[in-house]
Amino acid sequence: MIGIIGCGASGMLAAIMAAREGASVTVFEHNDRPGRKLLATGNGRCNLANEDQSEEWFRSDMPETAQAVLRHFSKNDVLDFFRGIGIPVRCKRGYWYPQCEQASAVVTALSEEMRRLNVRVMYNVDVTRIDVVKDTDGTVFNLTVKEQGGASRTVSADKLVLACGGPAGDRLGQSDFGFRTLRALGVPVTRYQPALVPLETDQDGKKDIAGVRMEVSLTLACGDTEYREKGEIVWTEYGISGIPVMQLSRFAAKALTAGDAVALKVCMIPDAGEDEIREMVISRKGNPAFTSRNAAEALCGLVPGKMSQWLMKRAGIDPAEPFTGIAKECLERYASELSGLVLTVKGLRPYAQAQTTCGGVPLSEINPDTMEIKSIPGLYVTGELLDVDGACGGYNLQWAFATGAVAGRALANTRRNA
Ligand SMILES: Cc1cc2nc3c(=O)[nH]c(=O)nc-3n(C[C@H](O)[C@H](O)[C@H](O)COP(=O)(O)OP(=O)(O)OC[C@H]3O[C@@H](n4cnc5c(N)ncnc54)[C@H](O)[C@@H]3O)c2cc1C
Repeated sequence: MIGIIGCGASGMLAAIMAAREGASVTVFEHNDRPGRKLLATGNGRCNLANEDQSEEWFRSDMPETAQAVLRHFSKNDVLDFFRGIGIPVRCKRGYWYPQCEQASAVVTALSEEMRRLNVRVMYNVDVTRIDVVKDTDGTVFNLTVKEQGGASRTVSADKLVLACGGPAGDRLGQSDFGFRTLRALGVPVTRYQPALVPLETDQDGKKDIAGVRMEVSLTLACGDTEYREKGEIVWTEYGISGIPVMQLSRFAAKALTAGDAVALKVCMIPDAGEDEIREMVISRKGNPAFTSRNAAEALCGLVPGKMSQWLMKRAGIDPAEPFTGIAKECLERYASELSGLVLTVKGLRPYAQAQTTCGGVPLSEINPDTMEIKSIPGLYVTGELLDVDGACGGYNLQWAFATGAVAGRALANTRRNA
């Protein structure tokens, strides 16, 4: 029997690919239904791949090995697979979604395909331990499984896929069982931490701007290296969130772990240069249209009102004071933060707010043709457990589907060759 732990994105692909070749597959899932994390993806719309397949979006210490895996089951293979199980797909600005934009349809189609292929799925079953037993016939994996409300028992599998994901996500069944178990089995696992996650920053008065949304450009400075993103962010009571922030978070995570200082520079008028922004502010000073206004009124229109008030406070500007009385150096300070507010990044938000995990099983530990762990024949690892974290935009699901498919096919082949 082939055992698969986790009925998520990669586990379902592995089960289907192996079962299509006639293998007997049992999936163990501690939730009461399949694909709970999958249902939450893309705000319930399931962004399942991306048109831009550049290496840089599959972030890893071994990007060539990640590419070698993806060559075995490419973006087009993912899209064809879904079309084949009744999920037409469409591309919106480079992001691939199911035509109906419903993650629930993706989960239904995957579940139905497993049912058609007689894959056995055991729900409400928590795998709590794995023992690798070597005998003269080869390796057997003894799983300690605990059914809800029941006692623990042992189930044996000839081959095993660890498809149980990482700790990212909120109440979706996620855990770090896979990482802990692999370490216990002697498989190296690099430090894992939340990724695609909001950042905690140090500025005063965070409550005053919480909830403000803005289009910005961001520059994350980690030691000597800079990373840039543009897009909509939201200010929060702990710091800063939004897709561009999440895209940068894995670099912040790595740098903070290395003990480097991490700073985030926010340009609040992203289409204008520093000089242009300064001019937008300072030129108001001598403009007759503004002489009868107070400072808040004179500086309105550049950024949302709450943000302007907050910047004024930092620049020492009293919003109620006549604009004509505001000192030029205060306006210079206001303009300078408008074009480049520098925040110190203190940390990452917890796993509950993360979409994925960075770190995990180094790709040097697996055979990229099969996803089998080199040191433990018969044990396969897929998805988020591997040290690849994709950027926002469908890369993590594509990675999960690809690694699941590669493992499932390889399992079917070893069975045929046995
Ligand atoms: C809110 C949110 C939105 C996201 N949106 C996107 C998106 O739009 N596009 C994208 O590409 N990626 C997205 N992701 C990331 C993506 O969902 C994951 O990268 C992907 O699901 C990982 O697949 P996996 O198979 O490794 O793990 P999972 O899909 O997490 O599956 C693991 C399964 O194993 C089960 N399990 C865990 N431990 C045990 C155990 N001990 N016993 C039994 N069962 C166990 C879990 O319940 C789970 O069902 C999002 C993530 C989140 C949290």
